[in-house]
Amino acid sequence: MSVKVVIAKTLAKIGGPVSKLGSGSGKSFAGIIFSKVAGIDAIQELSGELKIGSILLTGTNGKTTTTTLLIKLLSSDIEIRSSFESNTINAIAAALIQQKGDIGVFEYGIRNIKYGIPDTVQRVVNPVGVVYTTISPEHAQVAGVKNPFSEYYKAKELLSKDMNKGVIITNTDDPRTAFLGYKKRDDVKINYYGLEVDDITDFFDAQEIECPACGKILDYEKRFLNHRGVYSCECGFKRPEPNVKLTNAEFGSDKWLLTIEGNLFNYPNNHDISFSVELCVPPFGFHNIYNTLASITAYATFTPKIENIEATVEKVFNNLDMSFIPPGRFEVVRNGDKLIGLGQGDNGDAAKINALFMNQYIDGPLEFIYTTPEEDEEEIFEDHFEVIKALNPAHVIVVPGRKSIAKAEEYYNIIKEEYPDAEFYPLSYAEMAKRIQKLYELAVESEYDYVIMTGCGEEQAMWESIKQKLIKR
Ligand SMILES: [Zn+2]
Repeated sequence: MSVKVVIAKTLAKIGGPVSKLGSGSGKSFAGIIFSKVAGIDAIQELSGELKIGSILLTGTNGKTTTTTLLIKLLSSDIEIRSSFESNTINAIAAALIQQKGDIGVFEYGIRNIKYGIPDTVQRVVNPVGVVYTTISPEHAQVAGVKNPFSEYYKAKELLSKDMNKGVIITNTDDPRTAFLGYKKRDDVKINYYGLEVDDITDFFDAQEIECPACGKILDYEKRFLNHRGVYSCECGFKRPEPNVKLTNAEFGSDKWLLTIEGNLFNYPNNHDISFSVELCVPPFGFHNIYNTLASITAYATFTPKIENIEATVEKVFNNLDMSFIPPGRFEVVRNGDKLIGLGQGDNGDAAKINALFMNQYIDGPLEFIYTTPEEDEEEIFEDHFEVIKALNPAHVIVVPGRKSIAKAEEYYNIIKEEYPDAEFYPLSYAEMAKRIQKLYELAVESEYDYVIMTGCGEEQAMWESIKQKLIKR
């Protein structure tokens, strides 16, 4: 280790703990000091200290939950260094400096190449594992700049593109994430995860999905959720066989029983292993089935203690309560006689999965309280409107989810053509407390027994606050 790196590390260790006194950057502070003194490339020397290596987790939805679950699983077996809910290289550097352990588990989210540095992160973290959850079109804008899906996809790809050792862990039911593994199959091992059950089926109109390899429209033999399913293309690209799969599911109203079977390559032991587990979990929503599979696949790939796999997985999941879900995520809560499903659905994919989850509880007329996207987010609105129509609500209420009230009213006017008695509440972003209070009142005072409230909105400041009010009552 060079003198400069040693000095930078020492300064970062001293400076890190006082970070709470400084401005904003919080848990990344030690990393910021380190990068300033030693330069970003010196992070390579920090990641080099890990005996097994680093795992990076990325995706549009589900990365925080998957990271949280993976941390629970791996840390039952060995000491790890980790960071989550922070999207910067400095947060990773801070974890490398301040923590101990032979494996690093880091959430890394990137919206595009300009405002993220996926290729640099790949180079300096030099991961032995990259985990992909989902990749779907989300906010069409980042910092006021149009962010086309192709650019976004490319940014995600850069995180694993130059890997020449280790394992890519990816969702095989999603052609976009599966293709990122498939392309790298000659360079690294790929552990795919997916569903092998008949109980989960989509009720949305089948969208045409382009083959990520050639651009033709994919053929689907089965559709699970949105673009996820069993697909193939004329060009030869088809869904790879999952290494870890859900083979049975029983969905009760207060618990779910899941059977998961795995047959995959374990990196620290350098050979294939197999396992089978039966889990009893809270009814945590379909999206969390994928997060469960992703975290178990990553865990079984990277734990050095393969003899522990079945016991650890069962211990962690059989003791899971809903608190593992990050703030603001969609949940269905009971309030008196009402069932209220609420939480963020910032992109079309998330909103659809929320709707599929809510749908299993709906047994009467439904009210849809919809929070709109921002200006220039017409594509998200179109997906959202499809979700509203698919649930066939008896009544629709529209509230701005972001800043622009004028744009929200435009979206409302489109909805009104289909739902003439839809109502609009022009609640301002600046007066967030009022917006939250009104959304809460709309839900609890609704004349309907089934209410879904989703769309765009600040995760913690809005969704989580409303959820807490509803649960407290
Ligand atoms: Zn093709």
